[in-house]
Amino acid sequence: MNIVIMGPPGVGKGTQSHGIVQAVGVVHISTGDILRMSVRSGSELGKKVYDIMTAGDLVSDELMMELIRERLSREDALGGWLLDGFPRTAFQASALIELLAELGQTVDHVLVLDAPAKEIVRRLEGRITCRVCNETMNLTGFGSVKPVFCPFCGCAQDAERSKPALYQRADDKEETIRHRLEVFRKKTLPAAWLLEDKYPLSEIDGLGTPDEVSQRIRSVLE
Ligand code: AMP
Repeated sequence: MNIVIMGPPGVGKGTQSHGIVQAVGVVHISTGDILRMSVRSGSELGKKVYDIMTAGDLVSDELMMELIRERLSREDALGGWLLDGFPRTAFQASALIELLAELGQTVDHVLVLDAPAKEIVRRLEGRITCRVCNETMNLTGFGSVKPVFCPFCGCAQDAERSKPALYQRADDKEETIRHRLEVFRKKTLPAAWLLEDKYPLSEIDGLGTPDEVSQRIRSVLE
């Protein structure tokens, strides 16, 4: 099964993606994670995209298409995939439709998660990410105590980089969040409309607990 998950930053795409790939048994392709890994490894790609990502802007369509073409052509993607964070522009959506036709593939479900901007800013401002296992969590879940150990992998320190495991992403600051939301409305929504013309698309309410949202997604995928 091939799935595209879309939605504004902070709506829960990452969290829901983990559940979906486990339930459906497909590979999780998160373009944001791929780019962050390139930044961390100090690769040429990482150097090119660091400033763009920190400002909450979009990496060029050409670079993204190169990256996605290479990733979808790998053997592990032949058994199905979940695209998370791609496409983000009308150009990427049209290019994806063409690329899939060329590869003889299709999209079985496009899931568009949504939540009000106020809720998204609240979630992202409190979001922390683990440098070691890449899981995200919200500070509100820890009460008044600032967490030191990642509740997912148990690490306090990223030994490789000699930094604390838990950190706030540079693009999870209020001003940048508002800019990313604007980018989503202007550039990514038109990409969803293009996909809707071609593949089955379902809008999913992203409000509520992660379990409630997963239940809504499950009922669409079944
Ligand atoms: P994400 O983790 O999906 O929120 O992505 C983090 C950042 O990576 C975005 O704000 C963009 O700077 C960049 N990025 C990820 N996916 C794409 C894409 N499909 N097109 C352009 N930029 C992207």
